[in-house]
Amino acid sequence: MSDINKTFEHYRTEFPHYCEIIETLQEIHLLREKRSALRQENFFSLKRADAIQKLKNGQPFINLQKDLPHSRESEQYFLTLLSITEKDHPGATAELHKAITIDENAYRDLVTELFRKEINPSQNDKQRILNIDEKADNLDLIPLLLHESLKPFFSQLTENLKDVISNSGWSQGSCPVCARPADLSLIREEEGKRSLFCLQCDCDWPYKRMQCPSCGEEDQQKLSYFTLGDTDDKDTRYRVNICRQCKSYIKNIDTRKGLTEINPEIENMVTLHLDLQAKKEGFQ
Ligand SMILES: [Zn+2]
Ligand SMILES: [Zn+2]
Repeated sequence: MSDINKTFEHYRTEFPHYCEIIETLQEIHLLREKRSALRQENFFSLKRADAIQKLKNGQPFINLQKDLPHSRESEQYFLTLLSITEKDHPGATAELHKAITIDENAYRDLVTELFRKEINPSQNDKQRILNIDEKADNLDLIPLLLHESLKPFFSQLTENLKDVISNSGWSQGSCPVCARPADLSLIREEEGKRSLFCLQCDCDWPYKRMQCPSCGEEDQQKLSYFTLGDTDDKDTRYRVNICRQCKSYIKNIDTRKGLTEINPEIENMVTLHLDLQAKKEGFQ
């Protein structure tokens, strides 16, 4: 069994409740591997010197509202990924497939709208996020697949410009590559240093241990956290950091407990109950 399959196996055993979504991630992984042979080096055509300058000015590498290339590569990959929703929703999948094939702007519109909502959510968007379906089983796969359709390109960009990112001293709560808010907070190494992680770009960057990534609050009276379940290792590994100033939350994973090599993508999914709890308590 390959390493990644072992990892999937491990998570399936440890989190049987999330078996279905872990299987979906494994399907995505297989399709990602197939397409990685076609990897395009510079999908976003961002020059190194410009990348350095952008971070210096406090701007992320890519602003998808402006910088989404006209290349059909990510769109083609998205159409391939749609095969994953086919077995459960054949009608809706066929319709979406057709819409994208006919209308050359359809895929582009879906992607820009998704990023706009995440980067600049309106009151309406926030309301919708709060009304999230309580069952993780009803997880809407389309946003996940849209993100995945761009992942190989973002993650390649992160890989190519790793040194630029780490030399920049980027200290914002949003991703230096794609501008989205950080997805996860990770505690690594013995000293317990904290970093933020973006699932879109596989990018992580250091962040202050006691600061809210969403509004920058550092007042410890306003920052807190909760955990769920007992105090065994599996539960204390996961925390939800909350900020009473801006009512935001972020899941925190202590990577010193549990697996030596964690997979942030799977970790994010097997902790969906924490998202639900945080949202129930009015955080977003
Ligand atoms: Zn990112
Ligand atoms: Zn905050």
